[in-house]
Amino acid sequence: MEVLPGVHQVRYPLTEPGVWVALDLIVDTEATLIDTGLPATPQDLLVPYFAKIALPANRITTIVNTHFHGDHAGGNAELRALTGARLMAHRLEVPFIENPQAGMQHYLTEYPGYYAYEGRTEAELLSRLPKPAKVDRVLDDGEELKLSGRTFQVVHTPGHTAGSISLFDRQRGELYCGDALQAEGTLNSLAYYHDVDAYLSSLAKVEALEVRAMMPAHGYRPFTEALLRGSQVKDYLRVCREATARYDEQIMEVLHKAAGPLTLGQVTAGVRAFYNMEGWNFTSIAPVRAHLDRLKASGAVVRSEGYNEALWSAA
Ligand SMILES: [Zn+2]
Ligand SMILES: [Zn+2]
Repeated sequence: MEVLPGVHQVRYPLTEPGVWVALDLIVDTEATLIDTGLPATPQDLLVPYFAKIALPANRITTIVNTHFHGDHAGGNAELRALTGARLMAHRLEVPFIENPQAGMQHYLTEYPGYYAYEGRTEAELLSRLPKPAKVDRVLDDGEELKLSGRTFQVVHTPGHTAGSISLFDRQRGELYCGDALQAEGTLNSLAYYHDVDAYLSSLAKVEALEVRAMMPAHGYRPFTEALLRGSQVKDYLRVCREATARYDEQIMEVLHKAAGPLTLGQVTAGVRAFYNMEGWNFTSIAPVRAHLDRLKASGAVVRSEGYNEALWSAA
């Protein structure tokens, strides 16, 4: 539906119950699509939506990926073929958008034992990958893009991924921020990022902008919408900052209470228990590992080599 003048937002459900991804379509004489959902999203949702608002496919001239994840770049190949639009993404995401298997391999290597889980074999993960799509225009921080009759600034907001970007329309005060800032995370996850310091710098960068409407791609807790306006923007950014500070405290509490050193999975389950979530999942593993690495660097946490994997304890 049209959520702001000329801005259409549609939601596509993901496998986690109650979790969806929001895609934004900015319509003028030319239209710009921000993210493309999962591989099935174009046929299931976007093509019918374009028909509903009588938007011919060839009026969509630009697709911007906020980052490479499969729920944001999954429909790239099909939409690019369908619309003839050029595809844009940040420099650091290009290798993973053009070769989705490389993205999967990156996580399998970085998080041994924690990416392929719950019976998800590598073969199964491979079968769900997006089709590769060529990036036509590589983006960098600070660039200005003329899209759909507006001017957007590319704001590099890493942390969730290294090349996550937000698009900022200064004149309208609108920020399209993908998964860059996650408040308290989705329904069954902590806020998902891989680099705490980068995430906090991105947060500071956004705090310095005059944002009047903010469009994250999921309904991050405790907010339930993918559109925040007016005073909600400041509330949202404050929750992002508080959640990140709280994870450090909660990790330390889990480690202090433990009878011995813990695995990453055990620490993560301990932190998730504060939010009444059971066990661990990959999107919670990543931020806990990022915080553990940072706590280790500050001397608060010790990492030792266990039998199969690293073990963590309070210093
Ligand atoms: Zn993501
Ligand atoms: Zn996402």
